[in-house]
Amino acid sequence: MKDKIHPELKKAIVKCACGHTFETLSVREKISVEICSKCHPIFTGKQKLMDSAGRVEKFERKYGRRGTPKA
Ligand SMILES: [Zn+2]
Repeated sequence: MKDKIHPELKKAIVKCACGHTFETLSVREKISVEICSKCHPIFTGKQKLMDSAGRVEKFERKYGRRGTPKA
């Protein structure tokens, strides 16, 4: 078995687009991600990223799920 043929794992700082940072192990020291467990809709239960264009709201208005009466 050869030793030291693998890249050395260092402690890496992962920085998410939401501002959350956390540590992991990587061969790179800094990692940027766009989504993490703090801001992913699956974890937060919100749709702040998926509904940025208000499409769900538009859909619900169109099909009356919120009961908005047409003028
Ligand atoms: Zn995040």
